[in-house]
Amino acid sequence: MPTSSKGSRGLIRDINQSLLLNLLQSGSPISRADLARQSGLSPATVSGIINNLVQDGLVAEKAMGDSSGGRPPIMLALNPDAGYVIGVKLTEDNVVTALTDLNAQVRQRLTVPLAGAGDPETVADALSQAVAQLMRASGTHRAKLRGVGVGLAGIIDAPRGTLRYSPIFDWHNIPIRHMLHKRLRVPIYIDNDVNTLTMAEKWFGAGRGVDDFLTVTVGRGIGMGIVVRGQFYRGSNGGGGEFGHIALDPAGPVCDCGKHGCLEAFASDPALLRDARAAIAAGRLNGLTRRALTIERLIDVARQGDAVARQIFGDAGHRLGMSIANLINLFNPRLILISGEGVRNGDLMFGPMRESIQALAVPELLADAEIRIEPLGDDAWARGAASLVLHELFKPPVHAEEVAVVS
Ligand SMILES: [Zn+2]
Repeated sequence: MPTSSKGSRGLIRDINQSLLLNLLQSGSPISRADLARQSGLSPATVSGIINNLVQDGLVAEKAMGDSSGGRPPIMLALNPDAGYVIGVKLTEDNVVTALTDLNAQVRQRLTVPLAGAGDPETVADALSQAVAQLMRASGTHRAKLRGVGVGLAGIIDAPRGTLRYSPIFDWHNIPIRHMLHKRLRVPIYIDNDVNTLTMAEKWFGAGRGVDDFLTVTVGRGIGMGIVVRGQFYRGSNGGGGEFGHIALDPAGPVCDCGKHGCLEAFASDPALLRDARAAIAAGRLNGLTRRALTIERLIDVARQGDAVARQIFGDAGHRLGMSIANLINLFNPRLILISGEGVRNGDLMFGPMRESIQALAVPELLADAEIRIEPLGDDAWARGAASLVLHELFKPPVHAEEVAVVS
């Protein structure tokens, strides 16, 4: 519901409720008295809001033993099973879904292949069917579904729910949230998939309590999520963070975006495969054929010591490192998380990356930055998309204009 339709009393109540939910999320079990003290709200206000949340099942009460011999205090905690959310990650080939509880713990997962490159209506159908299938498989009652979050590659206008540009499907200006809401009739949230991953890190992962950090994803493409002073930075129109398309060499190889010499054209999976195919064609890379070439095979050959294969990963790693050194110099982040399918390249790529970062970043700023390569489970992307919904459930409605819910 748009906040503009609420009176200011309702709005204040929502803000107070969100404040209490946040306290419950970060430190429960907690008593009503402690909630009042930490929130600065009056005990009566806290009781009124909490009683409603208990009635809704979102907050559970528990009597605790009391050493002072008085009346045992009633402690409160969020009930993670009070509702569920579904996260969806759309790739070229698959719809990856995960159902999580309110603590972002994955309860059920399902991956459905996407049959053929489709038009937006067909893909929206496939996505809705995957969500319905996941609901059935989990045995979850529809009334408990709080929303569906969708992470998509490309440029997303999250407030309008529009996919402005999809590099994998070559779509422009698709009202994807509306299309999904029409089919599923639950609140739908969409965002760039790297942003959703960053959200999961900030709320439930390595970014918890870190005010300034960057997430860099490496794999099919190269992306970035930006958190500055605890806030997501998206640029003026939602397109910020196109790290994969920073220009490294105008005379370099052509990129998916149509320009030349972007970082992605040097260090993404397709770039590695392109270089490997060229090396095979030139007779420089033995033990591989162009037909049977995969990143995994290229990694095997490199690990067996093939110098050309090692150099392909090394060159990509150096380009990535040069670019990340620039990020360190620009942002002075405390943490850079590297994730994505490309994490499988391991030291073949990230060894040279670290060398370049070491050589090129301003030493004082480098000293501030921890660089962490994240293990990427299959759940990470879909869990990120689920976090999009959880973020909405717990955030103060004064920011609700950021993502207007269709309902
Ligand atoms: Zn590009």
